[in-house]
Amino acid sequence: MPDNRQLIELYAAKDIDESVARILRDLGNPEPPLRLEDVCELLKLDLSYYSKSDLDLLDEISHRTVMAGNTILTNAKRMWDVVTKAGLRGLLIPSQRQIFIDDKVPTLKERFLIGHEIAHDFIEWHRDLMMGDNEHSISPQCHHTMEAEANYGSRRLIFLGDRFADEWRDQSTFDWKKAAAVGKVFGNTITTTLWEIVNSCPSNLPALGMISVHPHHPGFCSRAGNGNVAYFFGSDAFNNQFANVGKEDVFRELRQYVEFKKRGPLGEGVQVLSDVNGEPFEFQFSTFCNGYDVLTYAEMIGPHRRVIGF
Ligand SMILES: [Zn+2]
Repeated sequence: MPDNRQLIELYAAKDIDESVARILRDLGNPEPPLRLEDVCELLKLDLSYYSKSDLDLLDEISHRTVMAGNTILTNAKRMWDVVTKAGLRGLLIPSQRQIFIDDKVPTLKERFLIGHEIAHDFIEWHRDLMMGDNEHSISPQCHHTMEAEANYGSRRLIFLGDRFADEWRDQSTFDWKKAAAVGKVFGNTITTTLWEIVNSCPSNLPALGMISVHPHHPGFCSRAGNGNVAYFFGSDAFNNQFANVGKEDVFRELRQYVEFKKRGPLGEGVQVLSDVNGEPFEFQFSTFCNGYDVLTYAEMIGPHRRVIGF
């Protein structure tokens, strides 16, 4: 992959889907929005909040983490570094059955974070690794896989397994207003909803989602770091057929049609992306700004008909 697309193995996704289905069944297949307190209660997880200014609590968390044998966070100083510098907003300590969430995270975003920590708990190999008394630290690649799986697990949970896909399929064409409205029914942000729309695409539809800076204005999407794109993700069909397409390639397409507005719908365009065989295909792009990040959705229309000039 020419970029850091968050990919997870098919068998891992299947395992996660099964765990989520079991949790939802045990909760009596609840209606949206899913109450995460109920999930925590079912899994016997205790949910606490911490303040970054509460150094005593951070110290306490770090000691418990050491006791849990977690080698990512080894002491109070390191814990403080992680929380402040790396912007850690949630933490799971499996041996204590505890999830800690930063109390400054907005309520809607908090759902995704709590789901993420819950997923670290129900994905067996994560829990085993976090409980283990292993001396060697977790490799960056392994950590990346764990994060991608926990993100996937969180979305499957907060969108109630296949329930979201069923409701979304009733919408004929993509539209940000509809996406926001359906997302709201499930109690989630437009950003996580975009991820789930791409994830729940029909298996033969190449589609992509991207969270990026604004092509015409500075100050958006601080998560993108030095690049233009914070997250770039595709449907299975896109990841297979367009494995050659990188996030900066997609970002370049935005410059062709995105308007100078700073909020709301930023425009639409029919853009051409070439697949792994070099064949050009047309995609319907649509971009939206929620005031912080620029969100893009695109899905394939069909082969690009080259205009032959004489
Ligand atoms: Zn994580």
